[in-house]
Amino acid sequence: MKYALVTGGSRGIGRAVCVKLAQMGYCVVINYVSNDAEAQKTLELIQEAGSQGELLKFDVSKCEESVAAIEAWQEAHPGEFIEVLVNNAGIRKDNLLLWMEQEDWDKVLGIGLHGFYNVTRPLLKPMSVKKRGRIVNMASVSGLKGLPGQCNYSAAKGGLIAATKALAQEVARRGITVNAVAPGFIRTDMVEGLDEAELKKTIPANRFGEAEEVAELVGFLVSDKAAYITGECISINGGLY
Ligand code: NAP
Repeated sequence: MKYALVTGGSRGIGRAVCVKLAQMGYCVVINYVSNDAEAQKTLELIQEAGSQGELLKFDVSKCEESVAAIEAWQEAHPGEFIEVLVNNAGIRKDNLLLWMEQEDWDKVLGIGLHGFYNVTRPLLKPMSVKKRGRIVNMASVSGLKGLPGQCNYSAAKGGLIAATKALAQEVARRGITVNAVAPGFIRTDMVEGLDEAELKKTIPANRFGEAEEVAELVGFLVSDKAAYITGECISINGGLY
């Protein structure tokens, strides 16, 4: 059985990635933080896709909690390893920096950037030993160009892109690739409340993207066909830069 872990797999892009990986034959470990019902729904979709899954609830922004959950999974699966990691969990708490509370700065960086460290580090050793691994980090157009009102989110995603490039060079010899995906506007809970009609005028493709479109890109990056792509950040944004 091949195992994949998707953080923030209960909803949105993470859920679509879980289903895609299930279609590719992975047993999918679904991480989430609070939404049991939605995580359960993702699990059912994985089963409908003909694969297996399991729930692994923990807060990626908390280092000890993340490590404990991953160690518990490893103990329950002796001899197995997680060969695909999709660091997808993320939130946004937008405000101009002038008005931004420290809590909102810390939360967005905690989940989006520290979460990468907390989850990736414990999984690197098993991947290195097996000389096989795929890591995909969910960045954003905001991390590439910076967006006003999103200093926290842009910093988290920009940091994630830089960490992707650094780690890719550290582990390439071990058969592990590390890439980032930078979506533009994708129709999920995260963009609820945004003025889609107005915003899509700024997108050359004149529409928001779908979570399944992002999942296809992730599916390609974790496949054997993408073995020579590493340290990249690939945009999926309908032409919005
Ligand atoms: P979403 O629908 O709001 O889903 C967020 C997911 O992250 C949920 O599964 C949530 O779990 C999980 N999560 C939140 N905090 C967590 C924590 N502390 N620990 C573990 N899991 C946590 O978001 P989305 O739109 O699918 O976004 C997914 C990723 O794509 C994010 O990194 C986001 O920044 C990025 N992105 C999204 C867009 C877009 O337009 N949607 C564009 C660019 C980049 P619960 O269900 O338990 O809350």
